Amino acid sequence: MELSNRQEKIVEIVKHNGPITGEKIAEHLDLTRATLRPDLAILTMAGFLEARPRVGYFFTGKKISELLAGKIKRMTIKDYQSVPVVIKESVSVYDAISTMFLEDIGTLFVSDSNGLLAGVLSRKDLLRTSIGRQDLNTVPVHIIMTRMPNVTVCRKDDLLIDAARNLIEKEIDGMPVVRDADGGLEVIGRITKTSITRAFVELAAEYRI
Ligand code: ADP
Repeated sequence: MELSNRQEKIVEIVKHNGPITGEKIAEHLDLTRATLRPDLAILTMAGFLEARPRVGYFFTGKKISELLAGKIKRMTIKDYQSVPVVIKESVSVYDAISTMFLEDIGTLFVSDSNGLLAGVLSRKDLLRTSIGRQDLNTVPVHIIMTRMPNVTVCRKDDLLIDAARNLIEKEIDGMPVVRDADGGLEVIGRITKTSITRAFVELAAEYRI
């Protein structure tokens, strides 16, 4: 993480004088407390400094690698999941392809008549069927989908890094975020390689990489 000149100065002041109030840091730098507020917020969020009410700021002494590791261990699915697109298992392959285009999405989830997770459909599942000789209007998606219990799923409180590992290991583009429901699993979200890429970019921005 690249700190600005002013942020480095703040870290030095806190290192030598901490615990120290924001007001006092501002005095050291001949600036107002308001001017420093964004810098203090960044340094605290990134874990360089810690703020204790009525005590002030102190230096945590943590290395960037420790700070990053801590942050990664706090990144969970619920903060990065997106809205799932779920179709019924009786829907035709033709309509599933239309849905994929309309929703601009690469993985569709399939539910049974009770609304529970029944399977997953990828782009290649649909392509494979499309190059066959069947009439796509008459083939229902439950014939060609990857079905339960072979669907890899995750839950909202799982770590994002574990989801990322799962996507790589299983060689899949996405998975449903589920919760337990009567007799099965209900789809409540979606995690894809795009979600992981977004998280990666956010992480870099937060650490000013
Ligand atoms: P594509 O086939 O378009 O490259 P994927 O790599 O995601 O997309 O899919 C590869 C295969 O894995 C497909 O047959 C698909 O049905 C299946 N698949 C996709 N996601 C999952 C999942 N979460 N769990 C189990 N199988 C999946």
